[in-house]
Amino acid sequence: MNRILVTEKIAPEGLAALKAGAEVDVRLDLDKAALLDMLPQYDALVVRSATRVTAEVIAAGERLRVVGRAGTGVDNIDVEAATRRGIIVVNAPASNNVAVAELAIGLLLDLARQIPQAHDSVQAGKWERTKFMGWEVRGKTLGLVGFGRIGSEVARRARGLEMHVLTYDPVVSFERAAQYGVEVVGMDELLARSDVISIHVPLVESTRNLFDATRLSRMKRGAHIINASRGGIVDEDALLEALNSGQIGGAALDVYNVEPPTGNRLIGHPRVITTPHIGASTEEAQTLTGTDVAEGVLAALRGGTPRYAVNAPFVAPEEWSVIEPYLRLGRQIGALCTHLVREPVRCYKLEYRGELAAVDTHAVRLAVLQGLLGPTVDQRVTPVNAPLIAQERGIHVTELADPEAESYAGLLVLRAETADGERTFSGCIIRDESHIVQADNYWVDFVPQGSLFFTYHRDRPGMIGRVGTILGSNDVNISGMFVGRQAPREQAMMVLTLDEPAPEAVLDLIRAEPDIQKAFCVTL
Ligand code: NAD
Repeated sequence: MNRILVTEKIAPEGLAALKAGAEVDVRLDLDKAALLDMLPQYDALVVRSATRVTAEVIAAGERLRVVGRAGTGVDNIDVEAATRRGIIVVNAPASNNVAVAELAIGLLLDLARQIPQAHDSVQAGKWERTKFMGWEVRGKTLGLVGFGRIGSEVARRARGLEMHVLTYDPVVSFERAAQYGVEVVGMDELLARSDVISIHVPLVESTRNLFDATRLSRMKRGAHIINASRGGIVDEDALLEALNSGQIGGAALDVYNVEPPTGNRLIGHPRVITTPHIGASTEEAQTLTGTDVAEGVLAALRGGTPRYAVNAPFVAPEEWSVIEPYLRLGRQIGALCTHLVREPVRCYKLEYRGELAAVDTHAVRLAVLQGLLGPTVDQRVTPVNAPLIAQERGIHVTELADPEAESYAGLLVLRAETADGERTFSGCIIRDESHIVQADNYWVDFVPQGSLFFTYHRDRPGMIGRVGTILGSNDVNISGMFVGRQAPREQAMMVLTLDEPAPEAVLDLIRAEPDIQKAFCVTL
């Protein structure tokens, strides 16, 4: 059983999820020496932000396959060192989305109705009903700067409040924005048209002081601004001036240049609403952080592609439900190809058909490589190091996307070009389960998992019965059987799914049968 070391506190739900799939040790007291000492016994390490997972720590983890970060930032993890060793680093970047988006909407309504100021007034024994004349958000224009995970959740909610939503994001997909009912515009247009601007970008060099005096001056006079992203993105001095001049009608801030914002002149301003960086502070977000990281760690331990991996391909959330089953299929089809095609392969061709043609298949390609390489490489192959190993071995893969998939919703086709011609493997997803529908050019239909038994034989009456009898009389239980053939009484392939692998001696009995050319077991 896999062993997981947890060195920082994570939500009980996350811990329970980890324990359901592995042996878990929680050690919150480890210093560096103790961590280096213990790590060789573990397959996974789960941390928050305090444990420093340096190259030295990674090197000590001889069995380590995954590092899980319960949270988003991975500054405390040497991701490059992990990547070099094929170790997947997973995090939980989406667990805060709704929490932050709901806070932004709360701040929006606070600005519109001055709820915090009105609360303070009542608490102070006053009854100022005319002072707190607000405005309705319905029909107003909200400008979202950044349309990533959080920005898009804010958009969804703002649309529910009947707002018109604009976004500026340099890498936004117009289709995705349209799905959310959001208009994509340039920064200047967003500044000029928005009644309220909400910022949802990361703090990087290009976003530092993004809202400086110039940009604030280009906003509509009296417009409002919300920042629940990171301090440093809004120039605080410029904001104070814009508030005082009436250029900005009000600001709501969850984040500050310096936190806590001691001495910050924005604090106490009558038109500034403040919260103490509580965007992610909901019970649900904390729980989701724990369960998301647990899911990622267990997926990586099972050899899969976790949903949120820092050093493996990112799959956009809206494409994940399409892609996920094909990742498993990709690994299976790749492994099957390596097991069945024993001759040297000059190059591989991958075809993404039907629904697969419309999505980013980068992760599927890596899953196929992982499957192709896994059976022949003595080192652990993950989506992280698969491209590197493939490159070292000179494996060449060409790709093609084609919306046509005959009668399948989606079809993944892998062709291996050998000296004797092309060997084709095709698979599809039916009710969330992988099906191989073409194996080594034969049309079949089986689920590629567990113990599989293959024969290459000449199609003759009684062949299936003879193989079945040999397996049955040797106590090997068959759970499914499929035969593909090129033409009646010509070359054929039999695929049996078995409850357990057939012993070699039994395979020899089958190989001794007339017209059987090859018989072997594959475990996927
Ligand atoms: P994300 O990476 O999913 O999205 C960020 C988006 O910003 C991306 O689409 C990116 O293309 C876009 N972007 C980058 N530079 C830009 C620019 N110059 N102009 C416009 N768009 C730009 O990130 P996310 O998860 O949505 O997080 C957004 C912000 O919220 C981050 O700063 C994050 O640190 C912060 N955050 C705050 C809290 C809190 O407690 N207040 C909690 C979690 C996250």
